Amino acid sequence: MPADSARTVWDRMGLWLPALFLVFGLLTTIALVFQTERVIKKERQTHWEAEANRVRTDLLLHVSRHIDALRGYQAEFFAHLHFSEEAFQRVADALRIEDRLPGIDTIGYIRQRAALVSTPAHVIEIIYSHGHSDEIPLLISGLDFDPFREDAIFRARDSGGLAATAPVKPLGEGRTSEVILAFLPLYEGGTVPDTLEERHRGFVGVVFLALQPDRLMQAAFPESGPQAPHIRLLFDGYADAGRPDARDGVIFEHPTNKAVSTHYHRLELPVALAGTKWILDIGMPSQQAQSQRWLPWAVLITGMLLSALTASIIALLQSARWRSQDLADADRSLRREAESALLLRERAIEASANAIVIASATEPGYPVEYVNPAFERMTGYSASEVLGESLRLMHGADTQQEGLEELQRILKEKTEGQATLRNYRKDGQLYWTRIHIAPVRDAHGEVSHFVAAKYDITQMRRYQETLEFQAWHDELTLLPNRHALRARLRKVIESAKPEGPPFWVAFLDLDNFKLMNDSVGHSQGDAAIQQIAARLKEALHGEDMVARRGGDEFVFILFDDAPPRNGLATLQRIMTTVARPLILGPQRFHPSCSVGVAVYPEHGNEPELLIKHADIAMYSAKRLGRNNYQFFSPALHEQAMERVTLEADLRLALELGQFELHYQPQLGVKDGRISGMEALVRWRHPTRGLISPSQFIPVAEETGLIIPLGEWILRTACAQAASWQAAGMPPIRVAVNLSARQFQDQQLPSLIECILQDTTLDPRCLELELTESLLADDVEAANRVLKMLKEIGVKLSLDDFGTGYSSMAQLKHFPLDILKIDRSFVSDIGSDHSGGTIVRTIIKLAHSLDLIALAEGVETPEQRAFLQAHGCDTMQGYLIGRPLPAKQFEEWIRQHTACENGAIFPSSPVA
Ligand code: C2E
Ligand code: CA
Ligand code: CA
Repeated sequence: MPADSARTVWDRMGLWLPALFLVFGLLTTIALVFQTERVIKKERQTHWEAEANRVRTDLLLHVSRHIDALRGYQAEFFAHLHFSEEAFQRVADALRIEDRLPGIDTIGYIRQRAALVSTPAHVIEIIYSHGHSDEIPLLISGLDFDPFREDAIFRARDSGGLAATAPVKPLGEGRTSEVILAFLPLYEGGTVPDTLEERHRGFVGVVFLALQPDRLMQAAFPESGPQAPHIRLLFDGYADAGRPDARDGVIFEHPTNKAVSTHYHRLELPVALAGTKWILDIGMPSQQAQSQRWLPWAVLITGMLLSALTASIIALLQSARWRSQDLADADRSLRREAESALLLRERAIEASANAIVIASATEPGYPVEYVNPAFERMTGYSASEVLGESLRLMHGADTQQEGLEELQRILKEKTEGQATLRNYRKDGQLYWTRIHIAPVRDAHGEVSHFVAAKYDITQMRRYQETLEFQAWHDELTLLPNRHALRARLRKVIESAKPEGPPFWVAFLDLDNFKLMNDSVGHSQGDAAIQQIAARLKEALHGEDMVARRGGDEFVFILFDDAPPRNGLATLQRIMTTVARPLILGPQRFHPSCSVGVAVYPEHGNEPELLIKHADIAMYSAKRLGRNNYQFFSPALHEQAMERVTLEADLRLALELGQFELHYQPQLGVKDGRISGMEALVRWRHPTRGLISPSQFIPVAEETGLIIPLGEWILRTACAQAASWQAAGMPPIRVAVNLSARQFQDQQLPSLIECILQDTTLDPRCLELELTESLLADDVEAANRVLKMLKEIGVKLSLDDFGTGYSSMAQLKHFPLDILKIDRSFVSDIGSDHSGGTIVRTIIKLAHSLDLIALAEGVETPEQRAFLQAHGCDTMQGYLIGRPLPAKQFEEWIRQHTACENGAIFPSSPVA
């Protein structure tokens, strides 16, 4: 659980952290951009201020250099206490006023009159001047009317220092630009007196100069062009209060008429000059700032790039960290799993129901190092008893084992494998074990141990042995079964040598075993088989073998060695031993058997073929009257093959309607009148012509085909009889032969009822012919069926009477109507042999049981006469008429009934 959800939390965090860094980075970048902008601005400001200050300083220096010229004049005066014109000129030359100080418009000397000392009125006398000399007279003449000038002169006198005027108009015709006048006082003693009074007293005049600001600034800042500063000088009043009013804001501009662009930064600086206040307004081109404009952009882009880079590096680092964390996690969980798996395995080994042993692979004898509790339980040895012992302890002295070789091979080759062994518990008891061995390797890949799991397979082994025994043996007799026989035969065939003695395969079938089995019951029947099996085994020699094939069939492999061990001698011994009386409960039997022999290699070289041929030979022995043996021959084989094809053809015949019924008349012996007819089946084979029932009825019985064939016969016979009656013929009873298979069929009574109904035949007109063997099998069951048939109303006759086993005592219990005396007895009539005694006896018996006596196979008039003489009721035979197809039979009847009231022979008086 938590691993997954923790992971998703981390996943979400994983997106957040780089995003956070990105946002933070971008914000920082923006702040930085602003900061950069501010710094640039500030730096620009500082730069401008420095620039402006430089301009101011330059200007002030320039101004003071100009004013210094005044001091030169003052010093000249103080040195000589008067000015001569030459001296004035000398100073001017020394100072190189013309070249160096172009801002000076006029420089001059004004002398105070003596009276001026007490009354400082307009008594100034200008003596020398330089520059625009027209200023001088104008000055002097106009002084009285210019308070600015006067005031400045007096400030200079009183202060002993420099004093300047506000901008004033020059006093000349046509002069427009204003000038600033600066005055420096001159005193008598050659120095500046200390007190105001002394200064008034000693004041003799001033040296002055008129500064032309435009020119001054031009000289100070000669460069022009867009990079040149734009300077304006504004008058801001006097430093001291109480000075005469002057116009503020008078502007000197340099360069003049310069278009003031927005790219100019302006800065106003105060400037003091000899008692006057000025404002210096400096405009600087901001081009330098332009060049730094890219910087914020650079910062922005760099910042963004760096943020993105940082975010991606963080994302990368994080994913790398996760990956390593994942790996570490996986590693940890693997280790944990491995640890718990190891623990689990340890416990599992302890708890295992299978014995587990760990033995050293490096020490001789493979000493045991570990056994689990299941091992202790299985072997009875405690762990302490086996630790350090060799694994050999388990099998002890029982060293002749196939499994041991395998085990030693596994241990020697240090491979995986398994072996089955006989082992012994501590108490000596044997047990079978299946041992699985696997090598265990150390860190260097060397096999250090073996681990072995032992399974106790004793039970399984016993079960397997039982199963195996069962697979190869017959349960009842414990003789080898058919599989064992086949396997043995195959082996014998494989190892047979051409020059060696031949061997025989003999097929033995007990005669009439079914009868015996039925009369004594199945358990006694089984006991009989067991006894006979034991006798058969005793009759064999050496390598001979007997197997039970099922039922009462046994198959032998007999070696035809030199006498008395030859095959025939053994065969005879077998037949003799079988024929010994067999006592089953209260009954005593004289069993016999029929044997067929196939000789290897003449009669086949394959197990199945030899058995089959022996079977065919046995069948022939049966047909030859049982209780004998027959050798296989190709002719027998042919017969058998014929039977096989017959069987196949028989199945088709029913579908193709190849069967037909012939009818044989039965006459009253006394009156010669027709008393009945027997329906006899024929097979009209497309290639073999008409086939007798004695050839195919037994096959039909064996294959079960007799059931549908029998039904067809019954139905056809009944339908024929009914149709003849309907055609106006006198009602004649039809006799139909029933085979044992049909009689045993539970459906027989209902089938007959159904057929009678379907064909509308009177039940009294149907007679069913049964044989003795059919009744002898199970007397009670047979009687039940006979009663049911009698209830339907049909007649019952016993066919071939005298040839079977039926006892006279049983006969009276059956609800029969007719006894048919077998042909063989009738043919004896008149012979020397028995002279018809049996026929006479049977007639008497029939009459004593209130049955009609019918003689079949009557061929001669003597026989008929005999029968007539002894009171036989009816007869059937070639003398009267052969079995005929329906059409011909119909004709025969017509002719027969036409002569003498239906009697063929002169009738005798009724008995
Ligand atoms: P079966 O029941 O004893 O039939 C009488 C047999 O004797 C018939 O032979 C008949 O042709 C023959 N026969 C009649 N009169 C004389 C005679 O004067 N002299 C001699 N030598 N023979 C005579 P078939 O027809 O060959 O029948 C043989 C046996 O086949 C029958 O003996 C019967 O057991 C069986 N069979 C015939 N038809 C059927 C049938 O429809 N169903 C069954 N289940 N068996 C039948
Ligand atoms: Ca018959
Ligand atoms: Ca018969």
